[in-house]
Amino acid sequence: MTGLSDLPIRDDLRGRSPYGAPQLDVPVQLNTNENPYPPTPELVEDLAQAVRRAGAGLNRYPDRDAVELRKDLADYLGHGLTAENLWAANGSNEIIQQILQAFGGPGRSALGFEPSYSMHSIIAGSTSTRWIAAEREADFGLDPARAIAVIEAHEPDLVFLTSPNNPTGTALPLDVIAEVLAVAPGMVVVDEAYAEFARAGTASALSLLPGHDRLIVTRTMSKAFAMAGTRVGYLAAHPAVIDALLLVRLPYHLSALTQAAARVALAHRETLLGTVDALRAERDATVEWLRGRGLRVADSDANFVLFGEFGDRHDVWRRLLDRGVLIREVGPEGWLRVTIGTPEEMAAFRAALTEVIQ
Ligand code: PMP
Repeated sequence: MTGLSDLPIRDDLRGRSPYGAPQLDVPVQLNTNENPYPPTPELVEDLAQAVRRAGAGLNRYPDRDAVELRKDLADYLGHGLTAENLWAANGSNEIIQQILQAFGGPGRSALGFEPSYSMHSIIAGSTSTRWIAAEREADFGLDPARAIAVIEAHEPDLVFLTSPNNPTGTALPLDVIAEVLAVAPGMVVVDEAYAEFARAGTASALSLLPGHDRLIVTRTMSKAFAMAGTRVGYLAAHPAVIDALLLVRLPYHLSALTQAAARVALAHRETLLGTVDALRAERDATVEWLRGRGLRVADSDANFVLFGEFGDRHDVWRRLLDRGVLIREVGPEGWLRVTIGTPEEMAAFRAALTEVIQ
């Protein structure tokens, strides 16, 4: 029987494992940072109508440049942005892939500060971009002087900053991002997948776009917008950056159904983002509760919390799963990450963890 190793795949892909959190059918799923609130019946109805309308034209290719969707996204982001500043794709993972295809590639390098979102390094690998793993500080933040030194030492073609960071929840102050922008020789990507969950006082890097033509801010509809199943990610940048991405994107990459669904979701944004306040409050309560158990907990500006430290984190993860609660074994050794769910789901998590660690 032919196995993977018998095929003539690229040498640099040999021995790699595919990315993926376990997708298990358990009662309480707190492992992939989704929004736990499903679409309302009104939204489902509007989605159905939009799909019906789009369905009547499915013999034709979709708008290749997704112009109407980009207008809606620009309107949502504000900051004086227009459709020319926006680009959309199938999840921010595809956005990241297009960025690396355009600005990375063979002979080029990308640098990120770990622990962070592992798809940055994985997509760097699949686009043959050399990955440089720099380190975050013990509190999971960045020390500007050390960040600058490592960028100056490596002169990467791309720098990835994730704020709020996954899996730690840590947001970066804007002045740290500005200092990185001042020294980075290439593109700087700020991955803001969790921006809408930020605590008061945490600002978005969108405000740094004017005057920084090499800054790219990426966002997604998978988290706060509760549209993970739709697969829409997007970015804001100088229009010239989007011209670069047009060179690598596949024609008609974003289906007519996806574009239609995303536009309906944006029209319903008040309801969809209405869950964010509840999730933020639940997150802050979870941080307090975990600290009250004597655990170490990273400050979080996201819809998840990283906590530890456990001598055998896999055992804790497994025993929570035995109790029907699936969280994520990710991040530095000894730590675990829990996504914020509904109040009922978080009560189940607290009850299970109490049993496991007592
Ligand atoms: N960036 C970060 C930091 C993430 O955590 C995720 C999802 N886990 C993504 C990007 C990708 O999300 P999506 O492709 O669903 O937009």
